[in-house]
Amino acid sequence: MVNRKQTLLDNLEARIEASGITPELKSQAAQLVFGEGNPDADVLFIGEAPGKQEDLQGKPFVGASGKFLDEMLASIGMKREDIYITNIVKYRPPNNRDPLPEEKKAFLPYLQEQLEIIQPKIIVTLGRHSGGAFLPDLHISTDHGKPKRIKLQFHDDKMNSFAVVVLPLYHPAAALYNGGMRQMLMDDFALIPAILEKTKD
Ligand code: URA
Repeated sequence: MVNRKQTLLDNLEARIEASGITPELKSQAAQLVFGEGNPDADVLFIGEAPGKQEDLQGKPFVGASGKFLDEMLASIGMKREDIYITNIVKYRPPNNRDPLPEEKKAFLPYLQEQLEIIQPKIIVTLGRHSGGAFLPDLHISTDHGKPKRIKLQFHDDKMNSFAVVVLPLYHPAAALYNGGMRQMLMDDFALIPAILEKTKD
C-alpha cells in the first residue's frame, strides 16, 4: 500500500522541481536532492546542501559525511530506514560554496511543508546553516547538543502550529578530520535516544 505521507512528499518534490526556484543553482546542478528516508520517522535530520556525490546520486548524505552519519546512527542502534534526511537547500551550490541567505530563504517554505507532512518529534540540525533556520540566536560552539522545544507554524496557516524538539549539532563534515570534534559529535548523538524517549511522556 502506498504511504499517504510518501504521496504528499512526492507531490511536494514535483512542485519544487516545477517551481523555477533558485535558477542559478538549478542550472549548474545535476538534479534536485529532495530528501529520503522513512516518512513516518520520529527523527528528522537536516543538513546544509547537497555535495558532489549527492548531486550525482540524487540522495542526501551519500558521500564522506554520509558515511560518518551512518556510523553515528549505528552507534545509537538506528539505520537510515528509521529516520528521514534532507537539506535546507536542495540543489548543489557550485564548488560546494556555502548556501546564500536568499537560497536558504527560497527553500524554507518547502522545508516547512516537508516537516508538516512528516511531523517528526525531533529535528536534528547538522551545522549552523540548518540550525540557524530554527534557532535564530544559535551559537553552535555553546549550543550544540542542547535540545530546545519550539513551535513550528504551518506554512499556510499562521493559527496552526506543532511542537518539536530541535537538537543542534555540528555538521559531520567539520568532524571528519578532527578527532576531538568527532568525539564531541558522537557524544551529542548519544543524547538522541533519551530525548526521543522524553517526547513520548
Ligand atoms: N552535506 C550536507 O549538508 N548535505 C548533504 O546532503 C551532504 C553533505
